[in-house]
Amino acid sequence: MRARLSRVAGGGLLLAVAACSRHTGPPAPPTARHLVLVTIDTLRADRLGCYGSDVATPHLDAIAREGAMAPQAMAHVPLTRPSHTSLFTGLLPPQHGIRDNVSPSLPPQVPTLAPMLKAAGFRTAGFVSSIVLSRQSGLDRGFDVYSDRFLADADDARFLNTLQKRGDLTLGEALEWLEKAPRAERLFLWLHLYDPHDPYDPPEPYASRFPGRPYEGEVAWTDELIGRLDAALARLGLKPDTLLVVTSDHGEGLGEHGESGHGFFVYQSTLRVPLLFRGPGILAGVKLGVTARTVDLLPTALELLGVPAPAGMKLEGRSLAGTLRTGSALPELPGYAESLLPLLHFGWSDLRSLRERRFKYVQAPRPELYDLEQDPAETHNLVMADTAKAEAMRAALASYVEAERSSAKSAGPAATVPPDLLEKLGALGYLGAGAPGQGATPGADPKDKIEEFKVANRLIREGLIKLRGKDFAGSAANFRELLKRRIESFEVHYYLGKALLGLKRYAEAAPHFEGAIRFQPAYGMAHEALAECRAGQGDLKGAIAALRKGREAVPLDGSLPQREGAYWERLGDRRAAIQAYEAALPLAPKNAWLRIRLGELLRDSGDLARAVELMRAAVDLDASTASYWNALGMVLGAQERLAEAEAAFREATSRDGTSPKYAYNLGLALLRQGKKAEAAPYFRKALDLNPGFSDARIQLDHLRGEPSS
Ligand SMILES: [Zn+2]
Repeated sequence: MRARLSRVAGGGLLLAVAACSRHTGPPAPPTARHLVLVTIDTLRADRLGCYGSDVATPHLDAIAREGAMAPQAMAHVPLTRPSHTSLFTGLLPPQHGIRDNVSPSLPPQVPTLAPMLKAAGFRTAGFVSSIVLSRQSGLDRGFDVYSDRFLADADDARFLNTLQKRGDLTLGEALEWLEKAPRAERLFLWLHLYDPHDPYDPPEPYASRFPGRPYEGEVAWTDELIGRLDAALARLGLKPDTLLVVTSDHGEGLGEHGESGHGFFVYQSTLRVPLLFRGPGILAGVKLGVTARTVDLLPTALELLGVPAPAGMKLEGRSLAGTLRTGSALPELPGYAESLLPLLHFGWSDLRSLRERRFKYVQAPRPELYDLEQDPAETHNLVMADTAKAEAMRAALASYVEAERSSAKSAGPAATVPPDLLEKLGALGYLGAGAPGQGATPGADPKDKIEEFKVANRLIREGLIKLRGKDFAGSAANFRELLKRRIESFEVHYYLGKALLGLKRYAEAAPHFEGAIRFQPAYGMAHEALAECRAGQGDLKGAIAALRKGREAVPLDGSLPQREGAYWERLGDRRAAIQAYEAALPLAPKNAWLRIRLGELLRDSGDLARAVELMRAAVDLDASTASYWNALGMVLGAQERLAEAEAAFREATSRDGTSPKYAYNLGLALLRQGKKAEAAPYFRKALDLNPGFSDARIQLDHLRGEPSS
């Protein structure tokens, strides 16, 4: 009702302006002051009340009623990180380059929403509930506050629990931020809720309310959280000025087409998402007549906030603001989607799809064509019945793949995915990979492989949990079972190798790391593990050769040259070790240990000045480690910079009062400055800590033997 009135008022204003000769054009539409973006992971549109479900979602339904909804909204890829990256960049996965949950960070030259809003004066905060969106993703860019805190207290015992955060905890942090945020500033809040994601484990009363339907229970629970958020917006007086956008990154198979989760196929069960808008200027009750695409959200949000997009910025999406404000029609644009998982992990065919109005074409070894209006569940393949349509859509889709192929040629050097991430995601049921494939390959049709994929997923998940629990033999059995079933992938080889490494069966492990590297050359850890096998067999030169090959494949991975340095040290070649550590230095700008170790080698080579410089940098990076201060003190002492050495040893002893060595060194630095009385207690302390410390005893006896001065 309110919206209808404002539309009449707007029309009246328009007439008044037209009557006045000094003004031309309509007045600027109202813009929102704040943006609250909620992404509810793994949320199928058809499980919301406002989308026709029997699941009660009163709070989401209210947003749809007070604002606008897109009956047909689609994601471009049914995976959390690539899909969120499309949302934040307005680009398709082939354009922004993030194709998988385990990927290097988003390249810094790709613009994202948060820095744009920050530049426009917004205070920004992001609160995420899944490790997939941790700051390693690069999506944290431009956020003043970015909470992926569940990572900080990750440890082995609570391994699985730390991967995601229950929505009420994430929401609690977000509300705390909202409450404290200064009212004078414009605000951008991104809240990511993960609850509908597997495992489905809704809290009460939703578990009891949805017996046998735990996914729906999670949806209803999440709706309650949205209600809490909306109530807070109202209570804090933010609601009238806030653009609220609620959407999801993908749906969930729930058994359709044989797929229980998401990420493998490109059917509507996982590509169709809910999309709701509410805020100033948005017409209440509008239902978008066009397919809204995830890439459209960034330009839409910018326009509704009155923030211009950076000049020259390339966007795949287009703004839906006009139709949200007036309900006017927009021309339908094609909707691209993809799943590279079958190709990247198993060498099966990738899947690409294109949606044009009611039709959807899926490129696969056996292509598919569906009429989504007649057949929303995609059960009747029309590819033989309508060959002309199928051919036209195949050709349209080919232009996307061609554009990707030409841009792939100009791609930069491969970054690496961080250690542990792959493993954690595997235990969560995600298979990881990295490098994009070079277009379609004639692999098996994923439709024929879904059962195999499910078995693989289960065996990998169990194998990883065993590996984490140091049940190396059990873990190896899981991965061998996969190979026996002729399921071969990067993960299978890599983790079988890790399990065998755990059993110290180096010769058996090595070929599996070689296999892993064949699938995914840009994963630095696989090269390191292969080197470890060679070293375990006593072949240090072979280990170094493996690392050298790794450095060529992953030139930005600093751990490879660092490990190479360690092997050179074991071979007694200080010069080669220094060279390798020097190569690691710029790649590991935050690695204090590396600076200390290189400093020690340089000290032993006589380059004291550079050693001090590196060690100072190390204690700047990590002031809490006593041994680093001690190392610095020793080089300073060797340079006769005794006052500075004394200060460094004081830092060491204050951080670790149990080390006789640090106490002795402090005593010595004092003594060499002639401060005998001050030195004595430290020699005594060193002796107390280690009664067999003969150097300390000698110094102490020496001091006692002389008359005090
Ligand atoms: Zn997701």
